[in-house]
Amino acid sequence: MAGVDFVDVRKSFGQFPVIKGVNIEIEDGEFVILVGPSGCGKSTLLRMLAGLENITAGEIRIGDRVVNRLPPKDRDIAMVFQNYALYPHMTVADNMAFSLMLANKPRADIDKRVGVAAEILGLAKLLDRYPRQLSGGQRQRVAMGRAIVRDPQVFLFDEPLSNLDAKLRVAMRAEIKELHQRLKTTTVYVTHDQIEAMTMADKIVVMHDGIVEQIGAPLELYDHPANLFVAGFIGSPAMNMIRGRLHPKDPTAFMTADGTALPVARPTAAARGRDLVYGLRPEYMSLDPNGLPAEVVVIEPTGYETQMIARLGGNDVTCVFRERVNAKPGETIRLGIDGAHVHLFDAETGRRLF
Ligand code: ATP
Repeated sequence: MAGVDFVDVRKSFGQFPVIKGVNIEIEDGEFVILVGPSGCGKSTLLRMLAGLENITAGEIRIGDRVVNRLPPKDRDIAMVFQNYALYPHMTVADNMAFSLMLANKPRADIDKRVGVAAEILGLAKLLDRYPRQLSGGQRQRVAMGRAIVRDPQVFLFDEPLSNLDAKLRVAMRAEIKELHQRLKTTTVYVTHDQIEAMTMADKIVVMHDGIVEQIGAPLELYDHPANLFVAGFIGSPAMNMIRGRLHPKDPTAFMTADGTALPVARPTAAARGRDLVYGLRPEYMSLDPNGLPAEVVVIEPTGYETQMIARLGGNDVTCVFRERVNAKPGETIRLGIDGAHVHLFDAETGRRLF
């Protein structure tokens, strides 16, 4: 096993820079997820680590080796792709054994490794089947089996669950996480799905437009997003963002455009006199008879919680209540806001002030 380091890594396609100086330290055994919107450069970064794309500038290290110029086969990594890339004319066993056969490993060793991987992945009974005779989840497991048998220093996953239906995605998410807990192989995983990132990663790297916006543990990013981009990207439903300023005389009051005062528990000097964005996660509002009046716009019960869009201080805000709510669109309710969980962002730079 080994850690992975990206040191000021850059990549341009022609004149067009797509990776603009990325630094990421991944520790030995860590499960790191690169997440960000389509086109932010996460697949390119993964492909550079795999050796499938050359590096314009900077350095990539696996363990203590600089791998910039090493061909993929010499990097001691195994990659699982979105489309699984299974050979249709080979059985499950042969698909899993293929890379070992290419490497001229002894037959007995190959059989042993395939047997162990099949056991771990619950594929033991399917070894003689062909890919077309498998379900999507089983194919995904074979693709992982192919990676496991190689016992690499690093696993790379490129959106491995995106071809599966929602229910299977949730199940495979847990399987991959369990697999990592068992093998503890350093893993770099790319997805655009922030829920996948939140639920699986030891550490999340949030990317946007070729740069790293923030790196941290899932709940660290959730509770302390560095800027508006991360705040809006991590969390579902998304954080509510309301523009305004602090009251000039009362820094515990955030004034919206229509003059509504929203609570701020921890005012900060840096926020005074600036255009701000008030960031409020949907779960930090409650139904409170002493709260602010808001008009119900949409109400969506899911059974165990109720989501609502309400009009508050001239803004539509999303609320999530862990209770059933008896209200109809058009009615006025009262919303309490937990000011201790409010964030203030500088509207101009996007940076979180607290
Ligand atoms: P997605 O989630 O859609 O896969 P991504 O974050 O993985 O997106 P990349 O595939 O890394 O994004 O692409 C980053 C940028 O580089 C995009 O603007 C893309 O158009 C561009 N790009 C990727 N590959 C090439 C290429 N071979 N030639 C030119 N531009 C490319």
